[in-house]
Amino acid sequence: MKVCVIGAGAIGLSAALTCHSLGCHVTVFDPKGFSCRSEPSGEIGAQVWALGPKATRLLTNLAVWRDDPRICAYQRMRVLDSRSDARVVFDDPKLGHLVEADWLTWRLFDRVSKEKVILESKRVTSVTSDGYVCLEVGSTLLFDLVLFAEGRDAATAIASGFEKVDGGHHQYALVGTLGSQIPHSAEAFQIFTSFGPLALLPLPDSDDGPRISLVWSVSPDIYADWRSLSAGALAAKVTQASETVRGLLSFRSKPVWVPLSQHWLKQNSRGSCLAIGDTAHGILPLAGLGANLGFADVSALGDVLSKYPDASGVRIARTVDRERRFDQQAVLKAMSVFSNIFRTDSPTMQFGRSMAFQTAQSHSELRRLIQEWAG
Ligand SMILES: Cc1cc2nc3c(=O)[nH]c(=O)nc-3n(C[C@H](O)[C@H](O)[C@H](O)COP(=O)(O)OP(=O)(O)OC[C@H]3O[C@@H](n4cnc5c(N)ncnc54)[C@H](O)[C@@H]3O)c2cc1C
Repeated sequence: MKVCVIGAGAIGLSAALTCHSLGCHVTVFDPKGFSCRSEPSGEIGAQVWALGPKATRLLTNLAVWRDDPRICAYQRMRVLDSRSDARVVFDDPKLGHLVEADWLTWRLFDRVSKEKVILESKRVTSVTSDGYVCLEVGSTLLFDLVLFAEGRDAATAIASGFEKVDGGHHQYALVGTLGSQIPHSAEAFQIFTSFGPLALLPLPDSDDGPRISLVWSVSPDIYADWRSLSAGALAAKVTQASETVRGLLSFRSKPVWVPLSQHWLKQNSRGSCLAIGDTAHGILPLAGLGANLGFADVSALGDVLSKYPDASGVRIARTVDRERRFDQQAVLKAMSVFSNIFRTDSPTMQFGRSMAFQTAQSHSELRRLIQEWAG
């Protein structure tokens, strides 16, 4: 089967490796090119992902995952609400890993570049539902299966007839690597502040002491107020809002603002075309599930390709779409509900938050289910 992958982010590259390992002839297109991709060094980049066991299993099977000083295992997750007594703790030696997004994408690229996968630094402009891929340079190529993994923008998918739904929640995230006074002890900490959810995620210690990764989602109004603040002023706000759980904090790298929102496609398949990763579903980073969902799309694609080795691209795309839709929609809805209930200060909602957390805290089976669902 001839497979085209549009987009060489982590999801596109893992899909390319998966299809190649199952005997497909794979071509990956990305206008950003491939020559600039080298192993990250120095300070850990601002974008870090919390990956669950299902994602790391896929990456291990693809020979991408390995022990590395840029990865940190976490064994505990503590979630608090700053405006009520709500609190829930997840303890599990295999909860997951924090990994630098650039390192993981580089590892995937390194693996792909050693295989017989064709890499093209060209932009795809549109694709017909029967697999004709039109390139910006003017040529057209035919594939049996076309995977759209071009990220949130989904411009090629839209130009190819997919319909994108804006799920709202337009916000901004402040992200960056921070030095902390108090060690994290492999605990991921999240607090729902009046400005929005703030997560302090454990990173490997450096020679200069303990490090954590910050993700703080805030409204566009707060972003407008804070965007010109210095790194020192922002770090003071993070220290205070996190109730000094990790002591005084300071930015190790430049703080970065990232626009956020939720979206999905009405259908993730059209003929022999299939949308995966952020192209199919953009979610809030509330529970760190975006890339996990994308890797789950890739695992489902691998399972369907192995189960139906002689099926057409149309059947593969339709089957993966059907198998993944429930999980994708469930996560999108849950993130929306969480975001709404934690943004309101009404006493009823505060009570509701407290009850929900108490229920989760006192029922280990429920906590296990939430963990399983989170990847
Ligand atoms: C603040 C923040 C924190 C997050 N934390 C987590 C976390 O803890 N855990 C987690 O699982 N997820 C997390 N996520 C989500 C995660 O970042 C995304 O789910 C992930 O980056 C999606 O990868 P992707 O490969 O689908 O898209 P991208 O990484 O956006 O890659 C898309 C690629 O497609 C290429 N492209 C674009 N247009 C074209 C075209 N026309 N033709 C060819 N190529 C094209 C681009 O150049 C790019 O290389 C977080 C996100 C944010 C914003």
